[in-house]
Amino acid sequence: MQPSITATDIAANIARIRARMARAAAEAGRNPSAISLIAISKTQAPAAIEAACAAGHLVFGENRVQEAQLKFPALKASHPGLELHLVGPLQSNKVRDAVALFDVVHTLDRESLAVALVRERERAGRCPRLFVQVNTGEEAQKAGLSPRDTLPFIDRCRAEWNLQVEGLMCIPPVDDMPAPHFALLSKLARTAGLRELSMGMSGDFEAAIALGATFIRVGSAIFGERPAGPA
Ligand SMILES: *Cc1c(COP(=O)(O)O)cnc(C)c1O
Repeated sequence: MQPSITATDIAANIARIRARMARAAAEAGRNPSAISLIAISKTQAPAAIEAACAAGHLVFGENRVQEAQLKFPALKASHPGLELHLVGPLQSNKVRDAVALFDVVHTLDRESLAVALVRERERAGRCPRLFVQVNTGEEAQKAGLSPRDTLPFIDRCRAEWNLQVEGLMCIPPVDDMPAPHFALLSKLARTAGLRELSMGMSGDFEAAIALGATFIRVGSAIFGERPAGPA
């Protein structure tokens, strides 16, 4: 854990986020229990994650399979109810490890990954819950399907691969107002008949809740700023 943040801080931050979630839900006329908080623990040491568990929070997200493999087998063993979400890109050659460790994958975004998941489902008899990532800002460097390719891809998930996609996920461009991206994701999900929306981070989760988020992904507002470097 970073020396600057204590277990008490982490517990207080989670309580504060929960209060803000409840307020945002009330303002939107939504039931707060329909919105899940994923604590994004990338770059955080196991002690910080343990502090969140001790505060009663057991839902975490990581963006790298290898980093999660170093931290979470032990945490899952000591906290049986722990739920782990993959929110970063998944390479096809990491699918076996990801399926073994993660309960939910938010970043299904291409045919080759769908096919690899189906193959692993056949082999291991298990498949994580799935979200399709949409590149709502159509950014060249960002993962995710373009909005126009999203509905056809979901149709193929259902018809060709028998993959039960639960919802959509997006990461708006850093320099844009997030709300139009959340609204677009929400509209795409409605059109596709999907219930879940993974959207909203530390800086914008209230806007995401106003526009229908059912999973928000909050890192720095819980654990403090991450150390500089690739995150
Ligand atoms: C890091 C990350 C987050 C959390 O970001 P914060 O701004 O620290 O809340 C959410 N979603 C994804 C995909 C991330 O990689």
